[in-house]
Amino acid sequence: MADTLVAGTIDARMLIGGEWSAASNGALIETLNPATGAVLGTIPDATRSDVDRAVAAAHAAAGAWRRLAPVARAEMVNRLAAAVEARSEEFAALDSAENGSLLTEMRRDIAAGVSALRYFAGLALQVRGETLPGPTGEITYTTRVPFGVVGRIVPFNHPFMFAASKIAAPLVAGNTVVLKPSEFTSLSALLLADVANDILPVGVFNVVTGAGPESGDALVSHPNVHRIAFTGSVATGLAIQRRAAERMVKTVSLELGGKNPLVVFPDADLDTVVDAAVRGMNFTWQGQSCGSLSRNLVHASIYDEFVDRLAERVSALRPGLPDDPASQTGAIVNDRQLAKVLDYVRIGQEEGARLMTGGTRVVDGVLADGLFVRPAVFADVAIDSRLAQEEIFGPVLSVTRFSDEHDAIRMANATQFGLTASVFTQDLGIAHRFAESVDAGYVWVNEVSRHLPGAPYGGVKNSGIGREEDLGELLSYTQTKSIHITYAHGSLR
Ligand code: NAD
Repeated sequence: MADTLVAGTIDARMLIGGEWSAASNGALIETLNPATGAVLGTIPDATRSDVDRAVAAAHAAAGAWRRLAPVARAEMVNRLAAAVEARSEEFAALDSAENGSLLTEMRRDIAAGVSALRYFAGLALQVRGETLPGPTGEITYTTRVPFGVVGRIVPFNHPFMFAASKIAAPLVAGNTVVLKPSEFTSLSALLLADVANDILPVGVFNVVTGAGPESGDALVSHPNVHRIAFTGSVATGLAIQRRAAERMVKTVSLELGGKNPLVVFPDADLDTVVDAAVRGMNFTWQGQSCGSLSRNLVHASIYDEFVDRLAERVSALRPGLPDDPASQTGAIVNDRQLAKVLDYVRIGQEEGARLMTGGTRVVDGVLADGLFVRPAVFADVAIDSRLAQEEIFGPVLSVTRFSDEHDAIRMANATQFGLTASVFTQDLGIAHRFAESVDAGYVWVNEVSRHLPGAPYGGVKNSGIGREEDLGELLSYTQTKSIHITYAHGSLR
């Protein structure tokens, strides 16, 4: 597929039941390179009947797949990881071209996706039950049973990484999967399907592409999809919860947005923390990462110096074409996101926050046809302002002053979100109290952004339900069954 990309346009199809398929009504969505404005090609805009076919194929394949030995499933998932790894460059090139993030970052995403496939394959034998103590002649044990067909819906910001890592657990646990990638970044999921089609049995892994309100909704409301896992925005997550609950009881897990605090106490080393604040904001993905630490809360005694140093560092970040190794930040994924980012820059100014750097679109030179915004820093952001409360999902970092530890925790928790949080201090007491009190599913102390394999990831409050990237994720694709057997009434009693 990457060869076709170089040649000009891709005319992609969906993988349904091992066959490459157009939308039943022929509808297409154009996919664009946000860094150049060039048309990359088209993907099918799946209809409800396409989703029905995909779920039917997954349903038909589910029985044989769950009856396989777990190690046999794991072996295929490991083969998939190896086959993807061998084509890493193609995957990275597709993701970078379609979502505008730096090629160097997308290479890391491919490696992370491959490693997640291997991680869950390695856990296959951990999907097991328990034996319960009971009276002689009776035994009760539990088994873990897969759901059947899992509907997996993922966003645009890490296209391959999510496509690969989010199908690993359900497949290893014995479910079949229908994946719906973002309509803005579907190509690498389709290439993954292409690679998987030579390895997995027909119907075990299906990909439908298209606009969320039709194809995503059809998947969520389908009567044969009992387990839905969603990564994306709060608004869509809420819509999915409502829709899933309309006619049936379904198990839904949600990985949603964040407005994550990075809190700086006066004893932190300023050079280290300014560097961390830049890394933690994920400017290399244009801030488009759920875990981005987009609110810096800084103690009053170091506030002015922190703001000046941060603004200087951020203003030096160089927007550039994603495949140029000198670029430090890439393109925003689409027009809608670009408009949203620029809108929040205007809102921030209207709310009285101080724009220290950036926030303007790049309109000249080789970037003129792309969707590039200079990374922005706002200082003096009021904690109850929209800039501090709403997820922008773009390169806009806000800084707010706090006076004491109590104030810092109050501000850290003063949003609807609770995904990640970071604190910089040398004081063990402050670090522990912060980690205990902050509303977040993942907390860093003197660190940002790092995820260790196997550490549960997910949010509290409106940032989501459930944890992923760990054994718990694997088990969440099963339901526990208790089996009681009475087996003897003989002389041994
Ligand atoms: P989005 O909610 O707009 O779309 C996500 C997916 O949902 C897409 O595939 C879309 O087509 C689909 N969709 C849209 N409407 C739907 C509907 N009614 N029913 C079913 N599916 C529907 O999100 P986005 O703009 O692609 O991604 C950005 C958001 O994702 C941000 O809020 C970000 O924080 C969040 N995110 C969270 C995590 C996490 O792990 N917590 C990771 C990455 C991104």
